[in-house]
Amino acid sequence: MRIELLCSGTELLRDKVNSNTVLVAQRLSSLGLHLAQITTVGDDAGDFEAALASCLRRSAVVLTSGGLGPTFDDLTRECVSKVLKRPLLFSKKILKQIGGRQAYLIRGARPILNRTGTAPGQIIPLGKKTLILLPGPPRELMPMMDSAVLPYLKKTYPHASSKTLVLHVFGFPESHIDEMIRPVVDRKWSQDGLTVTFGILAHRSIIDVKATVQGKSPSAVKTLSGKIRKSLYGILGPKIYGEGEETLESVVGRMLKKKGKTLSLAESCTGGLIASKITNVPGSSDYLLEGLVTYSNAAKTRLLGIKPDILRRYGAVSEPTALKMARGALTRSGSDWAVSVTGIAGPSGGTKEKPVGTVCFGIASKKGARAFTEKLFGDRNQIRERAALSALDALRRAIR
Ligand code: ATP
Ligand code: MG
Repeated sequence: MRIELLCSGTELLRDKVNSNTVLVAQRLSSLGLHLAQITTVGDDAGDFEAALASCLRRSAVVLTSGGLGPTFDDLTRECVSKVLKRPLLFSKKILKQIGGRQAYLIRGARPILNRTGTAPGQIIPLGKKTLILLPGPPRELMPMMDSAVLPYLKKTYPHASSKTLVLHVFGFPESHIDEMIRPVVDRKWSQDGLTVTFGILAHRSIIDVKATVQGKSPSAVKTLSGKIRKSLYGILGPKIYGEGEETLESVVGRMLKKKGKTLSLAESCTGGLIASKITNVPGSSDYLLEGLVTYSNAAKTRLLGIKPDILRRYGAVSEPTALKMARGALTRSGSDWAVSVTGIAGPSGGTKEKPVGTVCFGIASKKGARAFTEKLFGDRNQIRERAALSALDALRRAIR
């Protein structure tokens, strides 16, 4: 089944990101349906009508976004009426909720209630095809996708069932992971009416290994997906930190919660980034006691009790300092675990022995403490982000 998206809005061709493309694609993918084409036109009746006519010729399902509002530049209803040669009918029922042009539906259309705005969406069955009109604002379009569009497509177009597995790995080069999983990827999984597609995607320092299984029988899809998952875990093991929606901070949080342990942080170059990530997870007050941003040497001494002599002898960016920072946070907060980060994020401040990107980490628990150093690449923000992720991953491996 071919599906297309037609977006309208002059601003999308000038200065605004077309976020509806991603949102619609993701929601459809959750059903195992995929967009074949995306078209964007400005608020121009001629362009919209020509594009819509082409979309309807090529595809079984056409979704449009934008131009359903009440203003002069909202042309979608009138253009659709012209292309379909179907009149616009005034809906008294909709008029009760909203007024004016927005109360007009294409003949034969089923309105989609707009819970987060005014303009209703419309589902227009056209024989075997369907045209679906959605409003432009993402916060109006998204609820309609979930409440009406996906259920409609599921019912009207019975399709293969599909399961996508996404495993997250941190801290290894993409080529390295690619090589490791090759034997699994190359195995003959696709048979008995099942198709398997693998993908590998690197973003920031995180690598996503994806495996999508499609087939008629939902139980066969589930079984095969489970087998592939087991094979990938067999190869990557603890390199995998999480799946699907999970993040390093949510995984670390889950582990701490499960074990009933608490955490404190002592951050220098990450400036609170780790604390920010940790507290982004709902329920983090169960395990995070405190996070200190000890940026100056004076703060490292005053808040963490690091002797000036240590800072003078080894420097603020050193393993002895990172170790003392973690120990200081642990004893002063009374937490079960403590993590510290101190490094040179650049662009200035690097030396020959300690170039920009040198970051030292400390991890402490009541059982002991250790420190390690990493050389990170990128600009200031990339180094800070990678340092925060490295600290979280090291903590994850330590807690297990
Ligand atoms: P409204 O009733 O709010 O006017 P509408 O259906 O007429 O809704 P538009 O007028 O096309 O939609 O756009 C309304 C707002 O939504 C604008 O701020 C626009 O930039 C934004 N918007 C429209 N389409 C998209 C898109 N594809 N991605 C992101 N934002 C969008
Ligand atoms: Mg509008």
